[in-house]
Amino acid sequence: MMGVEPPVSGTDDRKSLSITVQARKAGGLVTMSAVAEPMTSPKMAAGITYDAIVIGAGMSGLYQLIRLRELGFKTRVFEAGTGVGGTWYWNRYPGCRFDSESYSYGFSFDKDLLQEWSWTEHFAPQPETEKYLNLVADKYDLRRDIQFQARVASAHWQETTRSWTVTLEDGSQHHSRFLITAIGALSAPTMPTFPGIKDFKGQSFHTGLWPKEKVDFAGKRVAVIGTGASGVQTIQEVAKTAAQLVVFQRTPNWCAPLHNGKISAAEMAEIRSRYDEIFKRCEETFSCFLHTPHPQNTFDVSAAEREAFLEKLYSERGFGIWVGNFQDMLTNRAANEEISRFIAKKIRQRVKDPKVAEMLIPKNHGFGTRRVPLETFYYECYNQPNVTLVDSKATPIERITPTGIKTSDAEYEFDIIVYATGFDALRGAFDRIDFRGTDGVTLKEIWQDGATSLVGMLQSRFPNMFMLLGPHTALGNIPRSIEFNVEWVSDLLAYAQQKGITRVEAQQEAMDRWMEHVMDLAKGLLSMEVDSWMTGVNLNVSGKQKRIVARYTGSAPGYRAWANDIAAKDYAGISMA
Ligand code: NAP
Repeated sequence: MMGVEPPVSGTDDRKSLSITVQARKAGGLVTMSAVAEPMTSPKMAAGITYDAIVIGAGMSGLYQLIRLRELGFKTRVFEAGTGVGGTWYWNRYPGCRFDSESYSYGFSFDKDLLQEWSWTEHFAPQPETEKYLNLVADKYDLRRDIQFQARVASAHWQETTRSWTVTLEDGSQHHSRFLITAIGALSAPTMPTFPGIKDFKGQSFHTGLWPKEKVDFAGKRVAVIGTGASGVQTIQEVAKTAAQLVVFQRTPNWCAPLHNGKISAAEMAEIRSRYDEIFKRCEETFSCFLHTPHPQNTFDVSAAEREAFLEKLYSERGFGIWVGNFQDMLTNRAANEEISRFIAKKIRQRVKDPKVAEMLIPKNHGFGTRRVPLETFYYECYNQPNVTLVDSKATPIERITPTGIKTSDAEYEFDIIVYATGFDALRGAFDRIDFRGTDGVTLKEIWQDGATSLVGMLQSRFPNMFMLLGPHTALGNIPRSIEFNVEWVSDLLAYAQQKGITRVEAQQEAMDRWMEHVMDLAKGLLSMEVDSWMTGVNLNVSGKQKRIVARYTGSAPGYRAWANDIAAKDYAGISMA
C-alpha cells in the first residue's frame, strides 16, 4: 500500500486533544484552535454509548468518521453493505463510471493522498473509485468503527436523554447523542411495478444493486429497461458482447460524448502539481465541476460563432456541453431549442436508420433540462445488427414472463433482464428508515407534502440529527459538496462540544426562510417543466407522480454562503441548549 499514515486520532484515544477547527466566518475560512473534551462520561450514565452514529459508509460517511475522530467523538458507522464505498459499492454494473473529471472528484482534504494516488482515466470506472475509497478506509483505519451488513431500520429521538436510539434490522439497539445520515441522494433503487417480475427464470439485475460476481453477457439475449445515465452506460457496454440486446426506452434522454481517455504518468504528474488550482476552480463554479458557463447568451453571438462554440463543446471532455454552455441555455426557451437542435443533428448524423434516430431524439423536453447522460459510442450501438430499440411509450411493457418480456404488441425471450430503472431519489433513502423526532413525529409525516430542511442538513423536530446529502444540499460534483457539508457539521459539533451543548435543533422560522429561497431559485428554470428525479417524479413510487421543487437548484457557492452565514452568526436559526 502507498505511504500509509496513522489516523489523525483514534476513538480509542479518549484523552482531550488539541484540534484545529475550520470555523467558518463571513468572508471565508478562519482557522481556530479548540480543545476537544471527551463527551462520554455523563452520557454513559444515561446509557448513551456513542457520541455519534453515522448511517452509511460511502464517501460522506467515511469523511465524516475521519472528522469525528478528530473531535474525539466515539463514533459508530452502520453500513448495509459488506464494504465501504456507498454508490461505488452498490453500482457495479458494466461501464459504471462518474461523469466528473477524476481529479476533481477525489477527496481534497488529504494533500498526501492526492500526491500518492493516480487516476488512470479522465473519468474513472467504478472498480477504480471503489479501490480508491478502500485505500482511504485503510489509510485512516476506518473499518474498526464501521459495522458492515448493518442496515438501520429505525432511529428514534429520546428527549429525556437527548439522544437517538438506532435500531438495526437484526433488532439490536444503539444509543448516541448525535445522528448523522450519510445515506446518499441516489441510493434507494426502484423497480418497475410490472406483474411477473419474480416469475422470470433467467437472470435479472437492477443496476444499483449489481452483484460482485461477473455477469457474462457474451452470446446472451439481453434486455435493458431504462435509458437514464445508468442505462446508457450499461447499454454501450453490453452491446459489445451480447448476441442480442433489446433496449426498452420510455423517454429518450439527450446524451453527449464523454470523451474519456487514459491518463499517462506524465499527465498525472502535471495534474498533481495543479491540485490546488483544480479544487479552487471547483469551489468557484456553479455546480463544482471544472466547467463554467459561457458569459454570453446564446443569441449574443452570430450563428456561425454559436455553431463553432457548440462544436467545440461537443468535441471536449465531460460536462462542458451541459454546464459550460451559453449561460441562458437552461432558462431561455429559444436558446434551449437552439442547443437541442444542434444535439438532434448530431444524433441524426450518428444513427444510420432515420427512424431509430427519431426515436432517440427527445420530443418532450429540451437539452439539459434532465440530467444529461454522457456516453461513449452510445448512439453508434443502434447501428449494430445485435441491438434493437423498442419504444416503451408506444408499446408499453405489459408484464415480465417466465421467459422474457411481453409488450402491448410483441413477446420477447431473454436470458438476462437489466433494470436500469433508477432510484427513489433525494428523500427515498430517508423514507426507507423509520425516523421519529420529538413527540414521536415521523419524518414521513413532516415531509408528506415535500421535504423541508435548513440548508438541507437539519430539520426542526429532529434535534441532533444532521443530513449530509439531505434534500436541498448542493449536488453537482458531489464529493465537493460532501466535503463542505461534513466540515460544516463537524464545525457545528466542535462548537457544541466547546460550549457543552447537548441539544441542537433547527428553528422553524429559519427553515421557512431557507425553503422560500429554495422555491424562489427554481422559478423560471426549464427543468421545472419536466418529469425526472430532479423534480421529484418517480412513476414507480406511489405519491411521487407530480413535479415538485425537490432539490436546491442554486449555485454551490450560493449554498455555501448561506450555510457559512449561519455558522458565522453563531449558528443563527439553530436552537442550542
Ligand atoms: P434515471 O435517470 O431515473 O433513469 C431511469 C430510467 O428507467 C428512465 O429511462 C425511465 O424512463 C426508465 N424507467 C423507469 N421505470 C420504468 C418503467 N416502469 N418502464 C419503462 N421504463 C422505466 O435513473 P439512472 O439512470 O439510474 O440515473 C439516476 C441518476 O444517478 C442520474 O441522473 C445521475 O445523477 C446518477 N448517475 C450518474 C452516473 C454517472 O455519473 N455517469 C451514472 C449513473 C447514474 P422515464 O424517463 O420515462 O421515467
